[in-house]
Amino acid sequence: MDKQMDFVLRTIEERGVKFVRLWFTDVIGTLKSLAIAPAEVEGAFTEGIGFDGSVIEGLTRSHESDLLAHPDPSTFQILPWRGQIDPTAAMFCDITTPDGQPAVADPRNVLKRTLAKAAEAGFSYYTHPEIEFYLLKSRTFGTEGPEPVDRAGYFDNVPGGTAHDFRRSSVRMLEDLGISVEYSHHEGGPGQNEIDLRYADALAMADNIMTFRTVVKEVAIEQGVHATFMPKPFAEHPGSGMHTHMSLFEGDVNAFYEEGAEYQLSRVGRQFIAGLLTHAREISAVTNQFVNSYKRLWGGDEAPSYITWGHNNRSALVRVPRYKPGKSGSARIEHRGIDSAANPYLAYALMLAAGLKGIEEEYELPAEAEENVWALSDAERRALGYQALPQTLDEAVAAMEDSELVAETLGEQVFSYVLLNKRREFEQYRSQITPFELRTQLDII
Ligand code: GLN
Ligand code: MG
Ligand code: MG
Ligand code: MG
Repeated sequence: MDKQMDFVLRTIEERGVKFVRLWFTDVIGTLKSLAIAPAEVEGAFTEGIGFDGSVIEGLTRSHESDLLAHPDPSTFQILPWRGQIDPTAAMFCDITTPDGQPAVADPRNVLKRTLAKAAEAGFSYYTHPEIEFYLLKSRTFGTEGPEPVDRAGYFDNVPGGTAHDFRRSSVRMLEDLGISVEYSHHEGGPGQNEIDLRYADALAMADNIMTFRTVVKEVAIEQGVHATFMPKPFAEHPGSGMHTHMSLFEGDVNAFYEEGAEYQLSRVGRQFIAGLLTHAREISAVTNQFVNSYKRLWGGDEAPSYITWGHNNRSALVRVPRYKPGKSGSARIEHRGIDSAANPYLAYALMLAAGLKGIEEEYELPAEAEENVWALSDAERRALGYQALPQTLDEAVAAMEDSELVAETLGEQVFSYVLLNKRREFEQYRSQITPFELRTQLDII
């Protein structure tokens, strides 16, 4: 039993914790929870807690449905929304088979494996997401569609508004959970908000994002509203992206930084961006995993549609944010494509793998896009060599199907499960007869 485990057991005792939730995610990124009594925690650390994995999306092949959840003591947190009466705690788990092998379809393991690969090359990977979401009056809606809680816009201060209280409560709860918030504000759409989390290593961050979603949903319930991370709930308003800033570190040194280089961006930084661009189409079905994700990417309002990079260019897929004088030694890049409904473990694993590939293969970074890429004509974009992101989930799946990088990073089972699940989603979507068709085509001939 190591020190962290001792600490957890002691805290459970001291704080009178009554339930400990074991958390893990399925392939799509849904949080799963299994509550155990405090007396079981020691056994969970030493042996794991058995459960039937066959009911969890994508987690098992039928012949290996017995799985074990091993809580990671470094993720221990007391949940602030479960009142004083029955204090409840949670830990993220690693999933193994009964003989102790990592479960091939555990998304947390996919990220861990990719981080280990980065570590072999001498790198650690840090991320910082800007998470956008909408607050709606209710989960249900009428013919007018969902109703946002306010009519405010970008950075608006809404006097007495729900969004204000909402952000304050959420930020406080996140801080109570040890998740630092850097920034929060009203976003562009009515009822749309953004909360930015402070840099952490990608594994801690993926865990934090899962906790974040739960916190936001809990606070919404408390305040009688509904929170959604759906990428594009309104055709006429911006979608919800999860811009992710990232850097590689070699020890304490930011590997993206180079004094005096253009944008202070090192060769490694340039190659990493080149990797993200080269493999952007292949990883889309994971960074933007739903039919609806493509409505955001192709719906304007600052979501990227073309595979470019730029400096101060908000139409670019990857942006190199303005260098802050005095912040010597630091450099980061921002991926603007990924959306708020992605599975953070799988998406970060693929973004890292794409970047590493760029470094390994010494990809050349193409020229930056200085112009507004949306405003160009197709011919102009072609001449400049700007490729488009997939326009539909169907196209993204087709791009992923042939990707060695994605197959290798996700592992055979997650790879084929994602393909199967996403093909099915697109097929169900495609077979709908939409209100649009009925409105415009019922009487056409
Ligand atoms: N909501 C926009 C998107 O979908 C981003 C807007 C912003 O943060 N500037 O990506
Ligand atoms: Mg922002
Ligand atoms: Mg934003
Ligand atoms: Mg941003």
